Amino acid sequence: MSTVQSPWPSGTECIAKYNFLATAEQDLPFSKGDVLTIVAVTRDPNWYRAKNKVGREGIIPANYVQKREGVKSGTKLSLMPWFHGKITREQAERLLYPPETGLFLVRESTNYPGDYTLCVSCEGKVEHYHIIYSSSKLTIDEEVYFENLMQLVEHYTSDADGLCTHLIKPKLMEGTVAAQDEFSRSGWALNIKDLKLLQTIGKGEFGDVLLGDYRGNKVAVKCIKHDATAQAFLAEASVMTQLRHKNLVQLLGVIVEEKSGLFIVTEFMAKGSLVDYLRSRGRSVLGGDFLIKFSLDVCEAMEYLEDNNFVHRDLAARNVLVSEDNIAKVSDFGLTKEASATQDMGKLPVKWTAPEALREKNFSTKSDVWSFGVLLWEIYSFGRVPYPRIALKDVVPRVERGYKMDAPDGCPPVVYDVMKNCWTLDPSIRPSFRQLRQQLEEIKANELYL
Ligand code: ADP
Ligand code: MG
Repeated sequence: MSTVQSPWPSGTECIAKYNFLATAEQDLPFSKGDVLTIVAVTRDPNWYRAKNKVGREGIIPANYVQKREGVKSGTKLSLMPWFHGKITREQAERLLYPPETGLFLVRESTNYPGDYTLCVSCEGKVEHYHIIYSSSKLTIDEEVYFENLMQLVEHYTSDADGLCTHLIKPKLMEGTVAAQDEFSRSGWALNIKDLKLLQTIGKGEFGDVLLGDYRGNKVAVKCIKHDATAQAFLAEASVMTQLRHKNLVQLLGVIVEEKSGLFIVTEFMAKGSLVDYLRSRGRSVLGGDFLIKFSLDVCEAMEYLEDNNFVHRDLAARNVLVSEDNIAKVSDFGLTKEASATQDMGKLPVKWTAPEALREKNFSTKSDVWSFGVLLWEIYSFGRVPYPRIALKDVVPRVERGYKMDAPDGCPPVVYDVMKNCWTLDPSIRPSFRQLRQQLEEIKANELYL
């Protein structure tokens, strides 16, 4: 029995599963991997009116494309869903029951701490292979060596190479979902063959950012060689699948590859980070109209996050990027969480973080508002480091006693008032992004920024 699918609303994004050679004149041709946006339903539910990236419209067959959706929040994505950590031999055997040749998992070795064990179901019994970890390499047979468990699993999936069977089916750790499967299911997985990596354009905390070419378009690619930090990237990518706004750096897709790593592909922001942009151009190039425009761009993105209950937690000019046509967009969702989630305090950007967030881990849209005030200060000081001439260790105690930064040189008083409001110590009476956006719009409309 087939289920009746509710029609996709206008604006729905799809990714092409196959090539479509248009036959009729009204058809919109596309190739596998193209992203299409639904414009309208047609009378026939199997066909939609859609537009492609360059804005051309036409009719497309629904079964040639896959609808894109956000990865459900709370989904625990894993690059190693078959890794079960510290479990015993007996527990592993129970997990691999009933027997199914090729079903496997990896656990930490109980007999050799620091090593691992590959457990494989094979013709009714479970084999346990000792994975030796020595000088940063992994090996079972001391002939073939691997950088990490993923490469090892990849190798023995494609070739038994001495094991009782090649690896066929991972026994998933309870509660986790294979990242690759989830990105494919939700329509965000891209094909590595379509991506060319060009030069390095930035260094992030967890990996390099490269300029890439994806099917003829310039893109930015965050790359990470598989290891523990990849998990943080997965979180960032899955947040990005849920967000869409003209002032947020747009995710184009994700590539999960055992051999080469994890890639997050986003739109390319030609003019780099806002802080570098402000510093390199400076006062003589950037007039007040630019500054208020950047402020509003960021504020609109933040209002969208506010409406959707996302907290950014790392809002700062270094995490805002500027496009070829001078639009500022918020990026770097590495710390972004839905409002309810709790934070493990890592290295927090002290000068940008609200006092209640530093003190009580109380992150909220209101703590983002505090950071936005600091970001406004950065914009109007053309990229200076906040709290100049105050030692880092003195910043928090002074701020908690009510200290606020002076207005940057030449900053319009109305804009300085907005900043100071963002730095209200009591988060409950700090303005919302909606209010801030309205205030900034008024400043812009009345040219009060001059
Ligand atoms: P991290 O999360 O580790 O801070 P970022 O996402 O901030 O990494 O990226 C580091 C740097 O790479 C940025 O400051 C910027 O210079 C560059 N970069 C990142 N994303 C893009 C992009 N989409 N377009 C152009 N440059 C980018
Ligand atoms: Mg950053």
